[in-house]
Amino acid sequence: MNVSFTFAARALPGLGDPGYAHARARFEERAMPQITSVAVFCGASLGHSPAFQAAAAALGRGIARAGWRLVYGGGNLGLMGVVADAALAAGGDVVGVMPEFLRRREVAHAGVKHMVITDSMHTRKTAMFERADAFVTLPGGLGTLDETVEIITWRQLGLHSKPILLCDVLGSAAPLVAAIEASIALGFAQAGARDLFEVHEGVEAVLARLATLPAGADTSAARL
Ligand code: AMP
Repeated sequence: MNVSFTFAARALPGLGDPGYAHARARFEERAMPQITSVAVFCGASLGHSPAFQAAAAALGRGIARAGWRLVYGGGNLGLMGVVADAALAAGGDVVGVMPEFLRRREVAHAGVKHMVITDSMHTRKTAMFERADAFVTLPGGLGTLDETVEIITWRQLGLHSKPILLCDVLGSAAPLVAAIEASIALGFAQAGARDLFEVHEGVEAVLARLATLPAGADTSAARL
């Protein structure tokens, strides 16, 4: 009697069974729509190490191969150009978002057919926000820092719940993380600020994490 009961319980796990919970989680994961687009924030310069270009190329290629649309700042310079070139070379769908006044200064990427021209930096940010299911930050300069901090603060304010992934290359993410840690230590940010973003070591880890993310976050920019 005992033997057959144990067998039946294993074959048909009940609601309280850990195997049931695991199977249900996997079913729900598969049933959820996956992300379809990724916005990348990165430098309009190449940086001093070839590792930065390699990371940008791997990310652009990986996004395209996964079948996700790349949303980026539309430029042909620096890591921005490298990400876009790699995605295009891999047959990816690329959307550039660029304000009119930057078209010449940052050299709009001629190979990007889908270019959204905005009237200001602010509308550029919201246009990128609306088109992305998730955000990835590569190494960059002040513009990249600004874009990254702003998307994190929008999430802190509850304006969206889209995933934000910092891709660490040669320690590039450490100073921003340290600045956020300092804000927490000084009492100006809550400990929960750490949950607003994720840090991943290298592009492979970022791509692996993106593949697990469900889509469906609010893409309305009306409250921004
Ligand atoms: P950077 O990281 O400084 O090389 O800039 C990367 C991208 O961020 C470029 O496309 C810049 O135009 C853009 N950018 C620069 N300043 C800002 C800003 N205040 N807000 C949003 N994007 C910016």
